[in-house]
Amino acid sequence: MTQQPLVIVGGGMAGALLALLLRRHGAARVMLIESHPLSLPDAPPLTPSFDARSTALSAGTLAVLDDLGLGHAVREHAAAIGTVHVSRQSRLGITRMSAAEEGVEQLGAVVENRWLGFVLLGALFADEGIEVRAPDTLSGIRRQEGGYQITLASGEVVETPLLIAADGARSKTREWLGISARDHDTGHDALIANLSLKEPHKGIACERFLNDGPLALLPLPDQRMALVWTGPRAQVDQWMALADDEALAQLQGRCPAEAPRLCGIGERQR
Ligand SMILES: Cc1cc2nc3c(=O)[nH]c(=O)nc-3n(C[C@H](O)[C@H](O)[C@H](O)COP(=O)(O)OP(=O)(O)OC[C@H]3O[C@@H](n4cnc5c(N)ncnc54)[C@H](O)[C@@H]3O)c2cc1C
Repeated sequence: MTQQPLVIVGGGMAGALLALLLRRHGAARVMLIESHPLSLPDAPPLTPSFDARSTALSAGTLAVLDDLGLGHAVREHAAAIGTVHVSRQSRLGITRMSAAEEGVEQLGAVVENRWLGFVLLGALFADEGIEVRAPDTLSGIRRQEGGYQITLASGEVVETPLLIAADGARSKTREWLGISARDHDTGHDALIANLSLKEPHKGIACERFLNDGPLALLPLPDQRMALVWTGPRAQVDQWMALADDEALAQLQGRCPAEAPRLCGIGERQR
């Protein structure tokens, strides 16, 4: 009898990586259902998960990717984090962590999500034990002894001993299964942008707790840094409306002294 597949709903960062890990750890069949079209990428894809943002990968995550044989490819377009500076506005003192002091090659790495998607999806499509259904989604779930029977929008009916909801923060699968979640509006939004620099970042990542919200600068390849600033919505509105020069000047003023000098800002997104 053919073995039933383990089913993952959502082929984003979590679902795609989990499919590869389940296979690595012995699953004979994994089925991945993704609502967005997915195909073997010949260029970095642009899907909801693998968008223009960047992700800081911890040293532990890099070790997981190494174990899957993907660490090398991810590092090809990633900037190593050699030092982390953490500081707080209006307070003396700063915490510094360095790879050299910790005795590791790097504390982590920052990679653009699209490149991460390119590497993960390439590995997914190369694995004959992973069946991708995309674009497709669930249209029904029925609990049965030993697992679930699911129906896909395409009409396919699949039985599985394990159904994994990896369809994002607003997971429909979670709702269907009646798993509760709490939502709380903090009144803050995150603003992101890529920055170009007048000088090399030297692998420094900065996190500064400003009085109105945290600001992070992460090193990127090609002498750029990724900005993530979380602040009160009205303030983010104002900042989005500023001209590039003014936005850069204000940003530099809010950065810790260790941050490199900034010279350009890409599209701002919230
Ligand atoms: C500004 C910002 C910076 C961040 N930086 C970091 C960082 O540095 N490091 C880090 O670890 N994390 C970071 N995160 C968090 C990280 O981006 C998320 O945790 C991660 O993307 C979650 O991945 P996911 O696969 O669970 O969900 P998603 O990325 O939301 O993917 C869900 C997938 O499911 C699909 N889907 C949705 N509904 C269905 C359905 N009904 N049927 C089938 N498929 C469906 C979607 O198309 C999508 O492909 C950051 C987040 C933000 C906003």
